[in-house]
Amino acid sequence: MEKPSNLLLKLSRQLFTDTGEQETFIHSLLTPKKFNPCILWTQEKPQTLPFETAPALSWQPHFIDRLSPTEKPGKHPLHEQGYYYCLDFSSVFAASSLLSIKEPVNIIFDMCAAPGGKSIFAWKSLQPQLLLCNEVISKRIGMLISNIKRCQIQPCAVLNRDPEFFGEIIPQTAQVVLVDAPCSGQSLIAKGEKADGCFHPVNINKNANRQKRIIANAAHIVAPQGYLAYTTCTYSPEENEKIGDWFISKFPHFQPQQIPHLTPHQSHLTDLACYRMWPHTGEGAGAFTILFKNTNSEPAKQLPSNFWDENSFRFINRTNAKNPLS
Ligand code: SAM
Repeated sequence: MEKPSNLLLKLSRQLFTDTGEQETFIHSLLTPKKFNPCILWTQEKPQTLPFETAPALSWQPHFIDRLSPTEKPGKHPLHEQGYYYCLDFSSVFAASSLLSIKEPVNIIFDMCAAPGGKSIFAWKSLQPQLLLCNEVISKRIGMLISNIKRCQIQPCAVLNRDPEFFGEIIPQTAQVVLVDAPCSGQSLIAKGEKADGCFHPVNINKNANRQKRIIANAAHIVAPQGYLAYTTCTYSPEENEKIGDWFISKFPHFQPQQIPHLTPHQSHLTDLACYRMWPHTGEGAGAFTILFKNTNSEPAKQLPSNFWDENSFRFINRTNAKNPLS
């Protein structure tokens, strides 16, 4: 095992007081492993699964299968036919806070959608009347549209705008808003992938500032009594728990929600209800998740009547009507 960098040592001390746990955490990053791949069934499962599966966790939704690490589901013909979307278990963990939402959902808005995993998870679990997927980086739109089309996710519209745009045009309209934020990507290291500069404080601060801007803009879109899910795949508290603290200080009408099935994963770094998957537990490379509820109680707003005419959608997947909600 190579020697940990000073920045990784510093992070491990920030995350854990126990030296044994610091060492196990560092070890999991310096000796990357292959975690179980997962599939999210978007169409009905075949009676006999074409893959070897790992045991399901107690809270695992019926539309998710965890596969044995040697399976390559992206290469099976059912993938091309749109039967499922491939994702890792950390993403399932992060998106699973949505399983606690029991109210009917008209609109789901995903602010950072490409390549589409959390959008598809949200669509499958909450069955909204409309899924709006936004991705600000133009070159990432193609893979998002391709996944939405392949998996036949509808009604769905894909947009390509900066987060700031939406607070003004569709305030308080979506029952569920997702912010799967761009981050320093430290958990990539636990999968043996590259994440240059991911432990550097300048990079972490740059990401934290961007995350604050995105989540603040996202807050304006959440309907009263609606939810905002914030997730990352990085370990630094500055991009996770501290974003949660900052957010409720600026938007005190949002309250973090307890997610019963995630209680064993409560972050030990805060008293806020928020949850962590750590790389050394073996289930996935790592994730952070927090679900806020907008406690305001006035009626939700409707999408403006000119929304479909005046916005340049990159792609619309809908059954018939021009406006999927009409
Ligand atoms: N939610 C996606 C999924 O589950 O497949 C993954 C999203 S990835 C973690 C973060 C996304 O945020 C990237 O697609 C990235 O292009 C986008 N992004 C980058 N900068 C952004 C910004 N300033 N505002 C909004 N999104 C941004």
